[in-house]
Amino acid sequence: MFDIPRRNDPCWCGSEKKFKKCHLNREHEPPLERQDFEQQTKKHTKTCCAETLNDGLCTTKIIKAHTISKSGSLKQIAENGHVMGTKTSLNELIKTEGSLVTKKVGINDASTFTGFCSYHDKELFAALEDQKISLSNEQLFLLAYRSTNRELYAKDEQLLGVEFMKVADRGQPHHIQQFIQMQAKLQESGIKLALDELNLIKNEMDRLLLSGKFDEMNHFVIELRDVPDVLVSGSTQPEFDFSGARLQNLGVHGSKLSHLIYNAISYENKGCFVFSWLSTHNKICKRFIDSLMSLAPKDLSTALVKYCYTFCENTWASPVWWDNLDERLKSELNRRVQLHGFNPAQARDLVPDDFEFDAFRIGKTWLHQSPSIAPQPA
Ligand SMILES: [Zn+2]
Ligand SMILES: [Zn+2]
Repeated sequence: MFDIPRRNDPCWCGSEKKFKKCHLNREHEPPLERQDFEQQTKKHTKTCCAETLNDGLCTTKIIKAHTISKSGSLKQIAENGHVMGTKTSLNELIKTEGSLVTKKVGINDASTFTGFCSYHDKELFAALEDQKISLSNEQLFLLAYRSTNRELYAKDEQLLGVEFMKVADRGQPHHIQQFIQMQAKLQESGIKLALDELNLIKNEMDRLLLSGKFDEMNHFVIELRDVPDVLVSGSTQPEFDFSGARLQNLGVHGSKLSHLIYNAISYENKGCFVFSWLSTHNKICKRFIDSLMSLAPKDLSTALVKYCYTFCENTWASPVWWDNLDERLKSELNRRVQLHGFNPAQARDLVPDDFEFDAFRIGKTWLHQSPSIAPQPA
């Protein structure tokens, strides 16, 4: 049975406020209204992700940056200026009662985040956006750098969502309050853990960027013979490999987790899918890559599609490709979309099954390992 605290005792919800100033009358407070949700989504403070470089060059103008380059990539798969994906805001999640919907999104809204100032968005990524794609170490590093910053930005936004969740129990009966607070606490600890790790990764990547040591980042590159039908930019902690073997355990606090960063881009009527990781994460990430490469070549495309749809909300598909999927395939991808971040990964998520997705026509594959891991022959 739940013990109601005394008025001046700490509140049961863990807010560290006195009970009388927190949950004492929560069930009698006015419930949240639509405008509260709308205001919430505008709250995210916008600062440049490159402030950590301390170069003093940030402008005050934060711009809507594309995580997947707009001119090179999204346009190539778009139909009438639209691509297929899930665009989530708290607002929309409420409308759909928490389920993510795959729909047409204008390329100006797809894959954007307001994470860099006008100077850094242009200057940092010039080698990627203004030069011919040669898959140089610098270009591959920049792709990964942008993903990492986007991921940090997204986690910050999720944390704001949790703050909001904590007051979303206004006007609710006590057992609902308890449920909401418990959910909020669970999400908060997961997000904070991920933020700590991502900040460590960002610090290391800032160091590599400032020193120009681009070759210290590890990459596995899958070159594609034509324009991919699915584009992605994200990062995840791989928990299981493609045989269902466990790589690391997300539930264990205090253990450092390995992160894998990935991007699928298109350029010059072809494209590539790149996995990137820091040398300190090599053991786990390399096992993940080895297991991917042990699949039969015909299963690679399917494996990559399942990976994107299961782990990354920043996944965008060509509308033509999507429309050509039969209902069974569409509903399988929609099922996977619901797993983003909310449900723990399952061992069988990536194990080959009888679904086939042809979105990537696989060409040459190659591995770049940091000289610190694999000393090059002289
Ligand atoms: Zn409370
Ligand atoms: Zn800046």
